[in-house]
Amino acid sequence: MTEKYVYSFNEGNKELKDLLGSKGANLAEMTKMLLPVPPGFTLTTESCKRFFYEKQSIWNGLDKEIDAHLKQLEQLTGKKFSDMENPLLLSIRSGASHSMPGMMDTILNLGLNDQSVVGLSNATSNERFAYDSYRRFIQMFSDVVMEIPKVRFESIIEKVKKIKEIELDKDLDGDDLKSIVKKYKEIYLQETKNEFPQDPMEQLRLAIKAVFASWNNPRAIFYREMHNISKLNGTAVNIQSMVFGNKGESSGTGVVFTRDPGTGDKKLFGEFLLNAQGEDVVAGIRTPNDIVELNILMPEIYHQIKEIARNLEKHYKDMQDIEFTIEDGTLFLLQTRNGKRTAHSAIAIAVDLHKDGVITKEEALMRIKPQQIEQLLHSNFDENAIIKATSIAKGLAASPGAASGRICFTAESVEEAYKKGIKTILVRQETSPEDISGMVKAEGILTARGGMTSHAAVVARGMGKCCVAGCSQVKIHEEEKTVKYKDGVLHEGDFISLDGTTGIVYLDEIEKTKPTLGETFRELMDWIDEIKTISVRANADTPEDAKQALEFGAEGIGLIRTEHMFFKENRVSSVRRMILSSTAEERAKALNELLPMQKNDFYQIYDVMGELPVTIRLLDPPLHEFMPVKEEEIRELAKTMSLSLEELNGRITELHEVNPMLGHRGVRLGITYPEISRMQVRAIMEAAIEQQVNKNNEVEPEIMIPLISDVKELIYIKAEIEDEIKKVFTEKRKTISYHIGTMIEVPRATLTADKIAEEADFFSFGTNDLTQMGFGFSRDDSGSFISDYMEKNILEQGPFDTIDQEGIGQLVKLAVEKGRQIKPNFKIGVCGEHGGDPASIEFFQKLGLTYVSCSPFRVPIARLAAAQAAIRYPSSKIK
Ligand code: ADP
Ligand code: MG
Ligand code: MG
Repeated sequence: MTEKYVYSFNEGNKELKDLLGSKGANLAEMTKMLLPVPPGFTLTTESCKRFFYEKQSIWNGLDKEIDAHLKQLEQLTGKKFSDMENPLLLSIRSGASHSMPGMMDTILNLGLNDQSVVGLSNATSNERFAYDSYRRFIQMFSDVVMEIPKVRFESIIEKVKKIKEIELDKDLDGDDLKSIVKKYKEIYLQETKNEFPQDPMEQLRLAIKAVFASWNNPRAIFYREMHNISKLNGTAVNIQSMVFGNKGESSGTGVVFTRDPGTGDKKLFGEFLLNAQGEDVVAGIRTPNDIVELNILMPEIYHQIKEIARNLEKHYKDMQDIEFTIEDGTLFLLQTRNGKRTAHSAIAIAVDLHKDGVITKEEALMRIKPQQIEQLLHSNFDENAIIKATSIAKGLAASPGAASGRICFTAESVEEAYKKGIKTILVRQETSPEDISGMVKAEGILTARGGMTSHAAVVARGMGKCCVAGCSQVKIHEEEKTVKYKDGVLHEGDFISLDGTTGIVYLDEIEKTKPTLGETFRELMDWIDEIKTISVRANADTPEDAKQALEFGAEGIGLIRTEHMFFKENRVSSVRRMILSSTAEERAKALNELLPMQKNDFYQIYDVMGELPVTIRLLDPPLHEFMPVKEEEIRELAKTMSLSLEELNGRITELHEVNPMLGHRGVRLGITYPEISRMQVRAIMEAAIEQQVNKNNEVEPEIMIPLISDVKELIYIKAEIEDEIKKVFTEKRKTISYHIGTMIEVPRATLTADKIAEEADFFSFGTNDLTQMGFGFSRDDSGSFISDYMEKNILEQGPFDTIDQEGIGQLVKLAVEKGRQIKPNFKIGVCGEHGGDPASIEFFQKLGLTYVSCSPFRVPIARLAAAQAAIRYPSSKIK
């Protein structure tokens, strides 16, 4: 059997994305659905792979297949390729299995030459159309195949328009276009030292090779790297008969989304241009018309599009982004794909599709990316600040969000500024794929040209980046590096602010606020809670944090860092005296000052959290962190402690440690100074009892001992603590339930977790320290070399961002197994940074942990990740 490298559109279907590319697979699917797709065929991604294997040439077998399919196409269309009277013209379109917008290029009107353009003109009685098609073809062919810069051609059109005093391309007449074609061919000759190829077959072969070769152009490689796309064969090439949107005012081209990609609203959203072809809409050369205007100009076509949009959405079970062309009042479909969308609309659409019975609840949840939740939680301008801000222009609200930064005119300058930690706004006439590296690193994007489906708008929405597009009220001069607006001029480095939700551009930097989450979001969160099995708690140190966490749906607090309470202005002096006291009495005095403050903190937090669990960690960091550094602070402290400056300095020096991360910290502090632990526990318990007495709030504090490496440490400190608790109970004449557990963050603790479990009421993994000690990577110093590890592929991910499943994760697994051997229903959580990381959460789900805890702003992300993990791994049994 000979290998098959070419598929006709009526042979494929949407499942064949890997083979036909997504564009090809969807063209085939639409053909199968009997939608009006111009006929054509697809060279598979495997043929691209073989093309590189054949040293970038078209081998015999492929040639034959192409010939056979061309014949078929000629039969279907009743036109002949290479015909001089009424030629079959083709579009050559790339498309890999992942949509890579604009990464590889399209050539339209292929097959035209000096003779057939005359034939086309005669056959259609439309000279303007024929020469417009030819000049487009020469331009695209020169760009894609010969890499002649587009500006060379554009400047010719601009010149002719200037001489004729017209604004738009479509106002050029046949004679203008004829002379433009002549000039284009001269440029081609100048640049390539060859005449423009006249043989359609040669044109076709060159085009196919160029599309294949574009798979490995630097832009495409960069895009794949950025999106972690690997293991693909290559791009497919779609060869399709042309339909013409540039035949006059009853022709046109456009793009529609089945819903508003900004809000998710269920209504057609899109743009079109009359008498235009192909990329005119997307490239932002002319500002297009809103799709609703088509309802006035061509109501039948509008309704046909609406109907098709509805069917396609149902068929694909997702919002579609559809490209169409109208030729002489007849509609043709050229592409459909799942539309890119903002986080806000992603949620609205997923929820809505479930309510419409199109997808299940689980499918709806799986549709939303945790990063999209993150997008929702950020950036809006402060309402008061915005009133005072100076607006200078309004463009299209292309991608929501708010951004402030310094003006940069090129992707390179954005990247440079980014390296220095400077926030930027990329300001360009219009963007193109070359700008992507800069778009990634800018806070926001402003363009003067282009519509809602322009490159800038589409890419920004995909990235969740704020974008104002088509802002023609400002004049952007890229060479001059200025932005002119009605009252003035801005230069590179000046601050501007963009509101991607209104399209307004402001001067200066504007303060931002926390966003509010809509009703749909809450609905989604309810579904999440129905499905997820792992609880999500928050790390919070203040009542305000706790409130925020609750608002985001935290189911408790997994970590209160009591030392954060110590850092408050008015307390640190007592803390310092507590640490530096040379006698137990002095220390007791300082501790007594701290007691009511800590107690009040806990009381407030219990108050916010009600009966939800609250885990409080006893003092953890090395003590020198509290020490004064400034000369005058030391002097001041010496005075309050009635010590001489030397004496105090001496004690501070004594406290200095060579390696404080492995020094006197965590439970080790409690072993040396049990009175500190006693004070903290007293505060915890007294506050809890008072909550019960005053507010009938049944608080059961979870007291957590950090940095345990041996069960004997726990036994010692527990005895101290429980003795203190007994005293509190006696004094208050009341007992309440409480739990004493440990952090598991020293590797030795994971190895002896069974012994520790005998004494502990719960475990909470401190995966930051566990990673630090497990890898031997200092958390404070690893920044300088981890990036090298990633670059050289020694590490795939930063182990402090995502848990290292192979190593550190195995320590966690071991400790879980050992702990649950002793206590089968043992409560086990995670309170390190990994508690908010989706990939890590999936791993913790597999291990059957009870909860994860993360910073309040990550709680919604963690909840979604937990639900998705539960859908993927429903039985969270430990293997
Ligand atoms: P991209 O991947 O950049 O969207 P496409 O291959 O979809 O590139 O081509 C860009 C545009 O070219 C399409 O949106 C459409 O307007 C036009 N086009 C492509 N093929 C044809 C065709 N057969 N007839 C008419 N226009 C076409
Ligand atoms: Mg397209
Ligand atoms: Mg720790």
